[in-house]
Amino acid sequence: MRALRLTAWGEAPAPAEVERPVPHGTEVLVRVEAAGLCRSDLHVIDSAPGALPYRLPFTLGHEVAGQVTALGPDADGVVADGVVVGERVVVYGPWGCGSCARCAAGSDNYCDRRDTVAWHGAGLGRDGGMAEYLLVPSARHLVPIGDLPAGQAAPLSDAGLTSYHAVAGLRPALGEGTTAVVIGVGGLGHLAVQILRATTESRVLAVDVREDALALADRSGADFSTLMRPDTARALRARNGGVGADAVLDFVGTAQTLELATGILRPGGALALVGSGGGSLTVAKPGVLPPGFRLSLPFWGTRQELAEVVALARSGALRVEAESFPLSAAQKAIDRLRRGGARGRTVLVPD
Ligand code: NAD
Ligand code: ZN
Ligand code: ZN
Repeated sequence: MRALRLTAWGEAPAPAEVERPVPHGTEVLVRVEAAGLCRSDLHVIDSAPGALPYRLPFTLGHEVAGQVTALGPDADGVVADGVVVGERVVVYGPWGCGSCARCAAGSDNYCDRRDTVAWHGAGLGRDGGMAEYLLVPSARHLVPIGDLPAGQAAPLSDAGLTSYHAVAGLRPALGEGTTAVVIGVGGLGHLAVQILRATTESRVLAVDVREDALALADRSGADFSTLMRPDTARALRARNGGVGADAVLDFVGTAQTLELATGILRPGGALALVGSGGGSLTVAKPGVLPPGFRLSLPFWGTRQELAEVVALARSGALRVEAESFPLSAAQKAIDRLRRGGARGRTVLVPD
């Protein structure tokens, strides 16, 4: 089968012909219908040798939807939610050790043995879904999607789930009369705007460097959106009755966006830093951060949260703005995302 493999750090991934996997033990084989392309894929491709614990080569793709085509001989006993051959599913991508308390609770994203395994999940050190088939270690990683189109479902497993998990951590701060700011309205950010609208009372303000991303923020339900400029903090405050924001979700994570994020928060405000843009914050008392400042570094989400995101999408409250490319044109899609030419989420569909 065809697969897009990362074979050398810092080099473009290469299309390759690999054996179609056969499920053993508790494994499940999924025929891929769509795999999302995430900016994290670019961060992984660009990583210096040794920066990540992953062994090369492996197939990229950590956002996957498809159809179960075969179960390993021991998969039966662990089949969750009645997953059977023929079922259409989305794959819970963070794969932990599978046996610690966190993994047992469906929170592989915070596996206690994270530092002892050479992967972070599907397509992140383990063969992922930018291929015709994906081998999933256990049916516990599958969430049924019913008749959701694959291009809608695949992005739910990271862009949707990570945003949902980040918002969940901020929810106590986002009651009536509050304001949330989303920085970076791309694959994750446009779903974060929708999730904030669907699950919190807060007003939603959005910031991006691209006009078309602001239009996407508006379509996603933002109350106000504005370009990233030197005076953006002032513009947002002016829009908010002169008061800072209760929460900021930073989907970029550069020095510039962290400066805006910390500059726009009101005292007691909370920052969820999701983007891996390489910026850093100095935490000190006394210092420049607002008093009562709270910071979270959410990573992906739990299996239960993925089921909740899928339910939200099936109820019509979440609509992924997705652009499809055939898997054979993956490099074109990657170049386009790199240039800032992608809108919403890009998904790759096996030809
Ligand atoms: P994306 O490229 O689709 O979206 C990023 C958006 O940010 C784009 O719209 C871009 O125009 C905008 N942007 C860029 N620079 C900006 C700036 N200075 N100010 C304002 N906006 C700016 O990327 P994505 O796939 O949504 O991923 C977003 C980030 O989240 C990436 O860094 C990715 O690695 C990270 N990520 C983290 C997790 C996690 O679990 N923590 C999961 C997935 C992705
Ligand atoms: Zn991702
Ligand atoms: Zn674990």
